[in-house]
Amino acid sequence: MIVLKFGGTSVQNAEMMDATLSIVEKQLERAPVLVCSAMSKVTDQLQEIARLVGEGKESESEAILEAVREKHLACARSFISGMNLAKCEQDLDTVCAELRAIVRALVMLKEWSKRSNDAILSFGERLSTIILLHRARGRGMEAELFDSRELVKTDDNFTAAAPIEDLTNRLISSQVRTKPGMVAIMQGFIASTTGGAPTTLGRGGSDYTATIVGAALRADEVQIWTDVTGIMTSDPRIAKSARTIDRISYREAAELAYFGAKVIHPSTIQPAVNLGIPVWVKNTFRPGEAGTCIIPNVPGIGLKAIACKKGITLVSISSSRMLLAYGFLRRIFEIFEKYQTAVDLIATSEVSVSVTIDNASAVNAIARDLSEIGTVGVEADKSIVCLVGQDLWKDTTFLARTFSSLKGTPVRMITLGSSDINLSLVVPVESTDEVVRTLHDEFFPR
Ligand code: ADP
Ligand code: ASP
Ligand code: MG
Repeated sequence: MIVLKFGGTSVQNAEMMDATLSIVEKQLERAPVLVCSAMSKVTDQLQEIARLVGEGKESESEAILEAVREKHLACARSFISGMNLAKCEQDLDTVCAELRAIVRALVMLKEWSKRSNDAILSFGERLSTIILLHRARGRGMEAELFDSRELVKTDDNFTAAAPIEDLTNRLISSQVRTKPGMVAIMQGFIASTTGGAPTTLGRGGSDYTATIVGAALRADEVQIWTDVTGIMTSDPRIAKSARTIDRISYREAAELAYFGAKVIHPSTIQPAVNLGIPVWVKNTFRPGEAGTCIIPNVPGIGLKAIACKKGITLVSISSSRMLLAYGFLRRIFEIFEKYQTAVDLIATSEVSVSVTIDNASAVNAIARDLSEIGTVGVEADKSIVCLVGQDLWKDTTFLARTFSSLKGTPVRMITLGSSDINLSLVVPVESTDEVVRTLHDEFFPR
């Protein structure tokens, strides 16, 4: 069997939903599971509703809800007919009524929490998959809809919940029926706690659902269908001349995703690793193009791609007491742990340590605690530009080329060597796109 995941732009309207179903139909004999995102922009609209209900703004939140409902109904009516349409409208109305009830209750309570946020965000994928189910049936396909909230079980870390692997595998493998000639449809991104509260896997999390399902069902392959042809040498929105990478290793793809290549969610690769499942990234708008195949290992060394992550904060701590002492690093990292803040990059010298953090919500408290150890500096508005490729350091011209092309850029921090596949540079946020373009021109000339 295979898993095919389609992102928001791939199901943004009736025409694209049909393009999606045509891609699935061609592979119907491979017993496909279709994992689907919300229609493009809908998760953002739901996010806005969640924010407004927290402020008790009933009419504004209901207006967006009504727009979301109308969008789905109009899409369904444009290409589904007869009994299939009647059932589709009924299902959409039932789900929208449930959302309205939640919104009204939360407005009264002026409640915003991560928990209520996830409850509201879960509706986008529920709505898009209802349309796909009835349209697939309308086209004569055998199709069945499964509820991911009953299959993907997570912890209660709402908005970025972590799957409970064994339980999820057991539920999916025992309940999701697949067979040649039929498409099983599931929602990406959404899940629930063991107690049944809706959770989400974090924004962009449908990719992760796809590989979770792929691993549970021991899929022959997972295909991630999006709006670009595969993983490219850089984000094509930044470097116009970016081109598709034919094959890339699990580690390289995971590193790129972690450091900002939005094309796949950072956790996507992890479920595929143990079983060595190939993960394809392909373009719904150009289905004839091969795309990228992500596999356990790819021979050869050298730079594969450049990613970037904006809005990073750099925290530095220096203390002469660090000289020849031990235990400092432990004390420093205990503080980050206390505030549940993940550290991305680290550089140390004899008397100082610099780290980058993505989530700066606790940075003031962290700085206060760190100041008991030494002098603390906090610099916001930084970016990480990350160059990824197997055994980069073995190419003895690589560093010289990188740094000579960055003449004039104030590179604030550099890390290389902690992994053999990643050179990361911390630069001012306003220089990010230019740095990416310059490096891209240097290593991937037009
Ligand atoms: P989907 O809705 O299908 O999940 P996303 O918007 O999440 O799609 O991801 C696709 C986008 O990722 C592309 O449109 C592109 O701008 C961006 N992107 C960032 N880095 C890369 C890269 N290295 N290769 C391809 N796309 C990238
Ligand atoms: N719909 C969710 C989002 O917009 C999940 C996804 O598209 O992967 O983040
Ligand atoms: Mg995505």
